[in-house]
Amino acid sequence: QPIIEVRDLSKTYASGTVALTDVTLDIHQGEILALLGPNGAGKTTFISITCGLVTPTGGTVRVGGHDVVRDYRAARSLIGLVPQEISVEMFETVINTVRFSRGLYGKAPDDAYLEGVLKSLALYDKRDAKLMELSGGMKRRVLIAKALSHGPKVLFLDEPTAGVDVNLRREMWGVVRRLREEGVTVILTTHYLEEAEEMADRVGVIDRGRLMLVRDKAELMHEF
Ligand code: ADP
Ligand code: ADP
Repeated sequence: QPIIEVRDLSKTYASGTVALTDVTLDIHQGEILALLGPNGAGKTTFISITCGLVTPTGGTVRVGGHDVVRDYRAARSLIGLVPQEISVEMFETVINTVRFSRGLYGKAPDDAYLEGVLKSLALYDKRDAKLMELSGGMKRRVLIAKALSHGPKVLFLDEPTAGVDVNLRREMWGVVRRLREEGVTVILTTHYLEEAEEMADRVGVIDRGRLMLVRDKAELMHEF
């Protein structure tokens, strides 16, 4: 069974803007899916609905079999989200940041698990550093560690390389590849074909609210 099942998903905002139209998609455990599309295509709306933060006007999303609207808490516990708008407490330490985040999900403390997450993101040596002391790339990895703090099955990264320089972009690509090796399911958005090809196993092209095509990476490289 797919970990995420999206059926006929549509969203028209109160303003009248049609952001998504009849999107149907299965996402499988362990895969990395990139949603590729220009600004305004509906990528953030797709993520916000799938994470249960925005209510669709049509269709359904199930995560781990749980409807994200009707069974929000159960679905949300399976989801980690790194939103585009980021905010963290710069005076807090890395380990406390992820502990706090885990607590928000009502999960019992588990430093052994959190230290494993920090190790997988090459942050373990910085566990007691304050966020303000970290490089830009490290701060971004802390955001991923926060999103993984409650042990989700799927991780959403909304434009993980927006506004970062080329070195940091390459670093992020490496981070995502390492997550794949650990079997984390990742859904990320981007407006760069190159980036989608670099990170994803499968690419969905979204334009003006419609999912135009979904291709395995190999097929995509053949077509473009
Ligand atoms: P993307 O992430 O691909 O840039 P978005 O999902 O952010 O696309 O936006 C899709 C469309 O929905 C755009 O036209 C955007 O202006 C509109 N939109 C996004 N959020 C809202 C909102 N809260 N209210 C009204 N319109 C919105
Ligand atoms: P600058 O002054 O050049 O923006 P910063 O140290 O503030 O330098 O930011 C460097 C990197 O850290 C950027 O990639 C930015 O996206 C990221 N960053 C900045 N503020 C935050 C924050 N509150 N939480 C997480 N990452 C942040």
